[in-house]
Formats: sequence, structure tokens, C-alpha cells
Amino acid sequence: MSFRATFWGTRGSIPSPGPHTVRYGGNTPCVEVRTADGHLIILDAGTGIRALGRALVDQAAGAPIEADLFLTHAHWDHIQGIPFFSPLFGRGHRLRIWGSASLERSVDQVVRDQMSPVVFPVSFEALAATIEFHSIAEGTPMRGPGYEVTAFALQHPGGALGYRFEPRGAAGGPAGALVYIPDDELAPHPSYHAGPRWRERLTAFVRGASVLIHDAMYTPEEYVACAGWGHSTHQEAVALALAAEVRTLVLFHHDPQRTDEALDRIVTECRTLVQRAGASLEVVAAAEGLTVHT
Ligand SMILES: [Zn+2]
Ligand SMILES: [Zn+2]
Repeated sequence: MSFRATFWGTRGSIPSPGPHTVRYGGNTPCVEVRTADGHLIILDAGTGIRALGRALVDQAAGAPIEADLFLTHAHWDHIQGIPFFSPLFGRGHRLRIWGSASLERSVDQVVRDQMSPVVFPVSFEALAATIEFHSIAEGTPMRGPGYEVTAFALQHPGGALGYRFEPRGAAGGPAGALVYIPDDELAPHPSYHAGPRWRERLTAFVRGASVLIHDAMYTPEEYVACAGWGHSTHQEAVALALAAEVRTLVLFHHDPQRTDEALDRIVTECRTLVQRAGASLEVVAAAEGLTVHT
């Protein structure tokens, strides 16, 4: 019993296509996760979800498509692909959209607003698929087909959730868990009121995961000018993965300016840190088309 995760969008903040981002990709966050029995979970709906939608429609060949879409938060780069997700335009398909219960405005309202006529030509009401909105609160595990999911409140402006997925039916223990934390500021910052034990609770939330997908947007030099913007450095992501004894760390939410070559260097640097720590953590950078297994 395990999960298979495929990356369709890896980039933070804004799509960044071009010759320098060909290998790791320029689309904003979207990850396709399959349970052992093939149930579809989608993590975030950045621009990567457009190509995923086309692939799903092709594979389905007319059969109904059903998925659970988990949104970590409603910043543009995590929802901007929804109006371009082609299964939404087909009758008979079903999408359950999960989002934080504690956002200032409900996910339902944010998704409808991004398709209001002032900013988008097609209204939400024109979508033919069945779309349900559900809220998920921190700490209470929720069961879906072939999985159990728990949410955790992250340090991010406006609030964001991280998700931990456990294969349902696995024989005890944390083996096979997938943790998705795309936007998270690991360094303490006065703008968050996460409490003194936040870091300890986060480490417990991540502990023993087979795969941790974590924000690694900045270098330490860049972070100086961006403290409080809600993101982490790759060194901090490695430190969390080591402390939580994770098997594989996937660096995620790449800075739009980061070239493929610069990302190669960051991966090498992370692997050196792991070696120096005498640990066996595997580190890769998320790339469009990459598949990892828990
Ligand atoms: Zn983001
Ligand atoms: Zn964000």
C-alpha cells in the first residue's frame, strides 16, 4: 500500500516558462497522487493542472473522472489553474475541492470570484461537472477512498495548510506517508503567532514520512530580503527532513528566477549537507514529469 506522486507544476508564485526552466518546469504547483487502488488526489491547482486535466480526459476516453483536490491555500499560484482544468467542462465528472476552514474568505467564494466576469470570461456556473466544496480543519484526520489525510497550519501570510496522507489499511506505523508542504516559512518571524511549540509540532507532523514535498524557494542570501513572505531556504527544508527522519525530500515551489543549472547546484549542496550529517536522506528537486513513490 503506497502512493505514487507525479509533478505537473513545481514553480512558486508565477509561471516561468523559457529556456532556463525547461528541465524542472515553469508551471505553478500541482501534484497528481494515486492511491494503491488508483483513486486520484490532486494537490493544489496551479497552472500545472491544465496539462493534468488534458491527460485525464484522454485516459478516461469518455468514462467519468472523479478526484479529490486539496488546496493548501488560496494564493493565486495555487488556484489559478482551476478554470483551465478541462474535466470541469464535462458533464458526469466529479471534483471534491478541499480547503482550509479558517481562511478569511471560504475557498468556495475565492474560486467563484476568480471566475467573475470582471477578471474571467467564463462563469463558474458554466462548468458542467459536479463540484463540491468541503472544508478541512487542522488536526482532525479525514478518511477518503484508500487514504487518510491530516492537515497542519503552516507559517504563511494569510494562512496555509500542509497535508499528511497515510495509505488507508497500512499495517500501523508511519511507513508510506506522503507530506505536502508547498508554502511554509520555517524560520521564526514576528508576523506569525504559531506558538512556541509550532516547530516541534511540525516535526511530529512530518515524522517518518516516506516522501516530504517542502517549500525550498530561497537561498539564505535571498531570504534576507524576503523574510516574512512565507517561504523557506533549501537548507531549512533539509534540516526539517533530517529532524523528522524522512526517507525522501522533494524540494518544491522553486523561485521563478531559478534556472535549471542553479537548481542542480542546490540539489548537490543539499546532498552534501546530508552526507556531512551522516544521514541517508535522499534529496531531489521537483521537476515536471517526475514520479516518486512512498
Ligand atoms: Zn505559493
Ligand atoms: Zn502562498
